[in-house]
Amino acid sequence: MEQLKKYDACPVCEATQFETHLEVKDWMITKEVFTIQKCTSCGFHFTNPVPSEDTIGTYYKSEEYVSHSSTNKGLVNKLYNIVRNVTLAKKVSLIQSYAKGNSILDIGSGTGHFLNACKQNDLKVQGLEPDIDARTFAKDNFGLDLEPLDTLQSIASNSKDVITMWHVLEHVYHLKRDIIQITRVLKEDGTLFIAVPNMNSYDATLYKEYWAAYDVPRHLYHFQENTIKELFSQFDMVCVDVLPMKFDSYYVSMLSEKYKGGNIVKAFMNGFLSNMKSATNGYSSQIYVFKKK
Ligand SMILES: [Zn+2]
Repeated sequence: MEQLKKYDACPVCEATQFETHLEVKDWMITKEVFTIQKCTSCGFHFTNPVPSEDTIGTYYKSEEYVSHSSTNKGLVNKLYNIVRNVTLAKKVSLIQSYAKGNSILDIGSGTGHFLNACKQNDLKVQGLEPDIDARTFAKDNFGLDLEPLDTLQSIASNSKDVITMWHVLEHVYHLKRDIIQITRVLKEDGTLFIAVPNMNSYDATLYKEYWAAYDVPRHLYHFQENTIKELFSQFDMVCVDVLPMKFDSYYVSMLSEKYKGGNIVKAFMNGFLSNMKSATNGYSSQIYVFKKK
């Protein structure tokens, strides 16, 4: 089994010249060091090399991987759960404000909290999730039948009003192949919502290699507003809105301070500052709203 996957060509523009941006530790789980490279041609940043698709699973096994759990232990997890409930409602109303119809596909549904909120608001939901434990959780807790990721290939063309990927695109191995499938499945007047961390944000530039949203090697790609727009423009998708995720700056700053051995007061200050500086840097995480051209 191949342990590492090395990119010889930029995942966005296919150019072959890279420079090193940062050496970053897998703070959350293995403490292994990974390199983030920058394509000198288009400016896209990506982890290189990354664990192979066959071996990445070991980097996800952690009780601290809160997006896949619902534990109430610890301050960070408690806060995460409170914030999740607030943001769920916001996400649903955001979607309803753009959607022309009610069929939604969520890719990377995790434990199904978001799709459950959609279902409760009378949306017709379908969810894909690679992790079997997460799928079982969604079934047991919400009665949701999440399906494996490769189901994407068999979903009917032009069939979804909305497709959502909440902090998922930075994890997918077959970036362009999946985007082709997404644009195929999305209706002509459909809306695609992509939430990813923003490596130009104030908290990212402040915490550097401690920035929790680099999250190597789980995050294969490290997006900025211009690079994600460039990527999707290759598939005739145009970004119609960029929206903030204001809680993420606090959450990411808290984790970053933890990795750095800092303190929670600083984390709150820096989260606040990051949101204040969004006019120049963008927010810590952003939602990109895409439509077909
Ligand atoms: Zn490139």
